[in-house]
Amino acid sequence: MEPWDVTIVGGGILGTSFAYWLATRYEGRIAVLEKEPQVALHTSRRNTGVVHRPFYLDPVGRKVFARSSQIAYGMWRAYAASRGLPWVPVGTFEIATREDRVSHLETYRKWGLANGMGEDELSLLTEGEVRALEPNVRCHGAIWSKTDTSVDYQAFTVALRDDAERAGARFLRGVLRSPGAWEDPGRRDHPGPRSGAAGARRDLACLRRLRLPPRDDDH
Ligand SMILES: Cc1cc2nc3c(=O)[nH]c(=O)nc-3n(C[C@H](O)[C@H](O)[C@H](O)COP(=O)(O)OP(=O)(O)OC[C@H]3O[C@@H](n4cnc5c(N)ncnc54)[C@H](O)[C@@H]3O)c2cc1C
Repeated sequence: MEPWDVTIVGGGILGTSFAYWLATRYEGRIAVLEKEPQVALHTSRRNTGVVHRPFYLDPVGRKVFARSSQIAYGMWRAYAASRGLPWVPVGTFEIATREDRVSHLETYRKWGLANGMGEDELSLLTEGEVRALEPNVRCHGAIWSKTDTSVDYQAFTVALRDDAERAGARFLRGVLRSPGAWEDPGRRDHPGPRSGAAGARRDLACLRRLRLPPRDDDH
């Protein structure tokens, strides 16, 4: 196999986004191994298809996730516009099914605002207001996150693959990464894939050491 600088296993939306991000910013040989003949044939095709807003994320306890979610929302919206992809803000109701959960809805509103959402994106609804909008829902109240957005993750993945390929990344389809394929003791610094959070942290550490030179064009 060719000596890739970075090898990513899995051409779902995560692997493909990562390849796009690397290929458009850095010089380097970047490959994505995908066991299927095409990208996004698994979870990224069958998920719920919603880009969520961060009202339910504690801005202190889940700070990184909350900030990433807020920043990523604008990036996905801009990317969808630039590539003509579906982007339909449909909104979400998070409902209180018990009286003692109503106070939590206010907490969600505060969290959403603290995470960068606008006042106009969030509304607290009484039981009657929910009933007027969704006659079949029974609850004690709700928070309405108006900009949760319906998208097509498979279309996003295919567009990102096209852009990543244009920037030089290679997608090797029909390639199954077999267990143990990266256990080369001479290549400890190579950011080969590992599974799980600990593996991901190790891979990011490897990537920092790799120091790929930045690209000087405007891909
Ligand atoms: C039911 C459900 C609904 C969801 N809804 C949402 C949602 O609305 N919004 C949201 O943001 N998130 C949602 N998620 C979270 C979901 O995890 C992400 O949306 C996303 O699709 C995951 O992408 P992925 O690239 O990690 O995985 P996948 O799309 O599954 O990609 C993994 C790829 O790796 C390949 N692969 C696996 N093993 C190997 C191997 N050994 N060698 C080579 N290739 C391999 C697979 O073929 C696959 O293409 C949902 C998850 C589920 C399960």
